[in-house]
Amino acid sequence: MVKETYLGVDVSPLSYEGIINEVKSRMARKEQSTIIAVNPEKVITANRDPQVKTLINESTFQIPDGVGVLLASKLKGGKITSRVTGVDMMGRLLDFAASNGHPVYFYGAKEEVVTKAISEIQKDRPSIKVAGYTNGYEKDEVALVNRIYASGAEIIFVALGSPKQELWIKRNMINLPNVLVFQGVGGSFDVFSGMVKRAPAFFRKFGLEWLYRLASNPSRIKRQLNLPIFLWRVLVGKK
Ligand code: UDP
Repeated sequence: MVKETYLGVDVSPLSYEGIINEVKSRMARKEQSTIIAVNPEKVITANRDPQVKTLINESTFQIPDGVGVLLASKLKGGKITSRVTGVDMMGRLLDFAASNGHPVYFYGAKEEVVTKAISEIQKDRPSIKVAGYTNGYEKDEVALVNRIYASGAEIIFVALGSPKQELWIKRNMINLPNVLVFQGVGGSFDVFSGMVKRAPAFFRKFGLEWLYRLASNPSRIKRQLNLPIFLWRVLVGKK
């Protein structure tokens, strides 16, 4: 699969449809796929922590979540034309699962968040098959994996935050051969539950979610400084 590489971190230059199509053919071949969101913050972390870099680069799809990766691709003449956000990718996969009868498991977030997210998802997609769910504070990993195995799930969303969710996926995918799609979705259950609001459409349309988040939570400034640092390093050509 063709990838673009920014500061040593791979990114898939595929749209939502492109990823769904690839996932579909991989599922038909019984090949497992992992989906991880890439943003400037994660790329900077990956440059400090080789384990994080490996975790990202070993994934099947690295989606360009965030305007920083899109800008980097534009600066470098890459092929990424739009963002693929984690939460919207999850929405597309849910649509795909609902229309193709693939059972879905939800693992992560607080009990009231994951249950509310599922009921909202069921309202919007009545044909969705929910194989099961577990909140993200379950301690017994072996019991959890057995439960997921027995549930018949084919797609799982893991919402534990990064890199915890990706490490969980890496450890457990071998024990879940019938789960063919694993997506680490961070705070997406909070968004689907309606308990956390997304940025208004205007900010989303112009790739300014970072500005909205910064205005609503100024303490994020430190995390957001990763964006100019990332772009600067990409520009000066540091591999
Ligand atoms: N979470 C969890 N178990 C944990 C730690 C976190 O289920 O041990 C959940 C938390 O409740 C929240 C999500 O993981 O729903 C973390 O979201 P965040 O926005 O911090 O993730 P990011 O997208 O920034 O990685």
